[in-house]
Amino acid sequence: MRKEVDMPYFYDSHCHMMNLSHPNLTAMIKRTFNDGLKRKLFLYSPTLLLIPLLFTIGLKILIYFGIRIPEKINFLDAFVILTLIAAVIVIMFFIIFSIPVVRAKTVSFVKSKLSNIMNLLAIMETDIGDCLIQMEEDLRDSFALNSGLIISGNGEKKEYEKIVLTPLIMDFGLKEYSEENVSFEPRLGPISLNEKIKSKHPYKVRWKPIVAQVEDLCIGIRDYYVHRDKYIEGQPLPLFQIIPFMGINTKNYSMKDHSEGGGVSMKLEHILEDNFGEFKNDATPQQRRHSIDAIEWEKFNGDIESIGSHFFLGIKVYPPLGFDPWPDEGLEREKVCYLYQFCIDNNIPITAHCSPGGFLVKNEYKDFSSPYKWESVLKKYGKLRLNLAHFGGVEKSDWRKKIANMILEIDPKSGQYLYENFYTDISYQGVDNESYIKLQRFLDDYDSAKRRRLIERIIFGTDFMINLQDINAYSAYLDYFFQTKALTLEEKDMLCNKNAERFLFLS
Ligand SMILES: [Zn+2]
Repeated sequence: MRKEVDMPYFYDSHCHMMNLSHPNLTAMIKRTFNDGLKRKLFLYSPTLLLIPLLFTIGLKILIYFGIRIPEKINFLDAFVILTLIAAVIVIMFFIIFSIPVVRAKTVSFVKSKLSNIMNLLAIMETDIGDCLIQMEEDLRDSFALNSGLIISGNGEKKEYEKIVLTPLIMDFGLKEYSEENVSFEPRLGPISLNEKIKSKHPYKVRWKPIVAQVEDLCIGIRDYYVHRDKYIEGQPLPLFQIIPFMGINTKNYSMKDHSEGGGVSMKLEHILEDNFGEFKNDATPQQRRHSIDAIEWEKFNGDIESIGSHFFLGIKVYPPLGFDPWPDEGLEREKVCYLYQFCIDNNIPITAHCSPGGFLVKNEYKDFSSPYKWESVLKKYGKLRLNLAHFGGVEKSDWRKKIANMILEIDPKSGQYLYENFYTDISYQGVDNESYIKLQRFLDDYDSAKRRRLIERIIFGTDFMINLQDINAYSAYLDYFFQTKALTLEEKDMLCNKNAERFLFLS
């Protein structure tokens, strides 16, 4: 439990703790294989147009050097010329590649990409408890942490006693997946033995209950608290406080008043009541914090049935996996409305993936992540405690702009900001200093009052371990945040402490 007077906490409000069995690997590979490859081919197809262009240039060169071209070139001549041009290109490529600087750069790029993948696989393969211990070891090795985490700037410093991690569970559940969504070769009806032998992959992912992920994460959190002192000597107090977010896809649940078939059995009302039922008693953020701190993770017995209120702090929704924030009128709309009202009534924060990228399992889910979709939600549920993650991403610049406009929207009646609990986070947006400079440029386009309001609504997040695709350690990501000149010390403190606590209903 916390003392009355103590140092503030540093919040990483967007990270993930998963092991290899949790993500929907088949769907991810299918996406890379089908959509990714198809798109690449489509993108590169214009380069095919280069061939006639090169052919024409080749002819021009020959004419320039006075070589006589016959009036009509027959097919064989054309073929010879094309082959010569191709040979020249290949030779040029080899010459360029043989330049030591170019070769060294190319090799080191491939090597660093490969080692990032190996690094990510290693941290996903180890136990979640061990992952957390390794993260603490990494931070203690990289920064002097005896008196807490320190960020300095302009001769001043901010000191933080602990790091609060809110690992977000993603509902990879496959309840609504039909065969065509998860296998490479869609087909209907039973498969004969002969066909099975010929089929390249007769097995498929058919059942991936989220309870297994909840169980692994909760056991991992317990194991971090129980075993960390065996690895980290002379530091009896844990550096991290871990308070996860529950992953929910309303499509995977039914509602009490409706009886549905198709394997959808768990009721939405039940999962919310089981995990957040006692939140109604937290009248103030102080009470919420008190109840969260009272959870004795060390004593968690591994039984999912023993998980009650205050193990989870909020809810994560992931539109690329099929969560539609605002479906057409009907049962699915009823479910999301129930979820939003429940979250408003009980001060539960929702974090939603909001960038065009991510683990997209079906093309039709592409627009589910859009801030325009969420605007319809906020028009009806203006008080929703909502964080649209990744600040809309950098791929679609109008998404970032749209989020900023929504933060700055004024209620014409009251003259106050319209969406009082609306936030965005910068997770995965800080894998290098360049990203922070981009953010600074974006913010500098607003006048000082608007800029101030935007800064009040941005939350720091890392997207660890997903971010290991582009950075090699947790400490490296934090270091870019500590060192960047794109934000002042005061602004950094807003992002990693004040805004996070306000969004999470902890202050
Ligand atoms: Zn994420």
